[in-house]
Amino acid sequence: MSVGTALLVLSALAIAAAIAWLGITALRAASGPGPRRPVEPEDVEELDVYLVCGECGTELRITRLGELQVPRHCGEPMRLERRGGT
Ligand SMILES: [Zn+2]
Repeated sequence: MSVGTALLVLSALAIAAAIAWLGITALRAASGPGPRRPVEPEDVEELDVYLVCGECGTELRITRLGELQVPRHCGEPMRLERRGGT
């Protein structure tokens, strides 16, 4: 086997592995809970999103949305506030 052929075989194997990995990832996503498309966590770090307790004013900065479940504080669901820029 020449070096060129070996490289070709290696590339083919790499591509096959990548395709297999993609397939497995897609299958895992498809078998997850929820609608057809899995909820991808949305990066909101630059958006200044806070969870605020309406009772005592406690603020929690959150950096990712998506699978977020609004927590409770003082017995009430916390308020979602977005404070962008100015
Ligand atoms: Zn509170």
